[in-house]
Amino acid sequence: MKNQSNMKPTRLTDSFGRVIQDLRISVTDRCNFRCFYCMPKEAMEWQPKAEILSYEEIIRLTEVFVELGITKLRVTGGEPMLRRDLETLIARLGALDQVEDLAMTTNANFLSGRAKGLREAGLKRITISLDSLTPDRFALLTGRKNFSEVLAGIDAAIEAGLSPVKVNCVVIRHINEDQVINFAEFAREKGVHVRFIEFMPLDNGKVWRRDMVVPGDELREMIHQRYPLDRVQSGNASETARRWRFADGTPGEIGFINPVTQPFCGHCSRIRLTADGMIRTCLFSAVEHNIKALLRSGASRDELIGFIVATVNQKEDRHHINDPEFIQPLRTMSCIGG
Ligand code: SF4
Repeated sequence: MKNQSNMKPTRLTDSFGRVIQDLRISVTDRCNFRCFYCMPKEAMEWQPKAEILSYEEIIRLTEVFVELGITKLRVTGGEPMLRRDLETLIARLGALDQVEDLAMTTNANFLSGRAKGLREAGLKRITISLDSLTPDRFALLTGRKNFSEVLAGIDAAIEAGLSPVKVNCVVIRHINEDQVINFAEFAREKGVHVRFIEFMPLDNGKVWRRDMVVPGDELREMIHQRYPLDRVQSGNASETARRWRFADGTPGEIGFINPVTQPFCGHCSRIRLTADGMIRTCLFSAVEHNIKALLRSGASRDELIGFIVATVNQKEDRHHINDPEFIQPLRTMSCIGG
């Protein structure tokens, strides 16, 4: 599989010197939940199937990315487990040389019967999106009554040996910050890593306002008062979460992903491939790069390499959420995949 062409850099670096090692692959824009800050309740217009990358195309592109130095892969959606035979894709991604890490983000609704199979296919770790620990609030936030399925999915992931099991909770003022201590207790009880994410302006309804953001530091203080926390120094500068463990030694971890109040763009190592074949160099990119068209035009490996290198060179320095001129991207979280 090795391509000796002299065009190929040994690793992907953007114009700010950041090394790009993480590729997030969205395999579908569809989802079975309707989280109010992500998807409108009414019918969504999904991408036509022909526009969605086939597994063959995803593998072909990922091989080139990996050859260029990508070592960490994350499968996302929409809800990735809606895509048929996902285990087949996971197995092929996991088999790629140099892939050191293979993770997935899911709402866990379909996980309880498939966690073991995904683990056996090569999935290493999993992140579950969950914004409430009470069935009623869950139904309010997601527009669905699948709370027990999600909890069963989390237990199945733990049992299957996916590790760590992370639970991502988007905290929104006056919506769910009252459940933060419950989530801390959930982390202690299950030994999972709960991460609280500041609400970002990527919502479909364009309802985001700054006063809806609950700063991570505020949440940390709330938890620390009840369960003292010690900082975890991971040494991984590109990590998005600020990590804390329980000072009393109880298993589980608490993390804070604070893109609004404490941006971490300076060490960003991520790029994204959307389900319809666009490269997004930043979560908040205003422009996208159509690698699907190139791929479907019969491009050679060198042409794909050249396109990716040139695209990464255009990676934005940071998001501009805190700047007056900030414009929310057209593409919403459900079509990016986080
Ligand atoms: S906002 Fe963009 S540059 Fe900043 S960390 Fe996220 S993807 Fe990277």
